[in-house]
Amino acid sequence: MTSTLTCKTCGANSVIQIQLTLPDGGEVDFCSCHVCESRWYNRDGEVLDLDALVDVPKKA
Ligand SMILES: [Zn+2]
Repeated sequence: MTSTLTCKTCGANSVIQIQLTLPDGGEVDFCSCHVCESRWYNRDGEVLDLDALVDVPKKA
């Protein structure tokens, strides 16, 4: 695996990746395409829908 990300929507290589830690301690990579402004999350190599991330239950 290389660190170069390709946008799955427009195929551009202008994708930034930011590592985030969720409230439950899980880590995800937030990816954003500069060209088409697509945004998605990556966790353990799997793409997460934004809706799926919202559904992550918050634990006290
Ligand atoms: Zn794109």
